[in-house]
Amino acid sequence: MCIKLFLVDHDVATPALSKNSKISYNELHGKFGHAHEECVRVMAKRIKLCVTGKVEKCEDCTIGKAKQANISKEVDQASKLGE
Ligand SMILES: [Zn+2]
Repeated sequence: MCIKLFLVDHDVATPALSKNSKISYNELHGKFGHAHEECVRVMAKRIKLCVTGKVEKCEDCTIGKAKQANISKEVDQASKLGE
């Protein structure tokens, strides 16, 4: 098995965001693929972005983390016609 690592130049990867530019936390959270708050802040610090705004509840993350309701697999069959 061969593992290859690539160095990503963030100046090239995100040309719309220059160093020291301001971006809201929630926008950056979405751009980083809905990463955890700590990851977003560490990455923003590494690529020298100024994160603004408060951390708001992300609807997409809430839906993604929601547990599917348990539904009984048993079927109640009718014993009489028309039941
Ligand atoms: Zn999210």
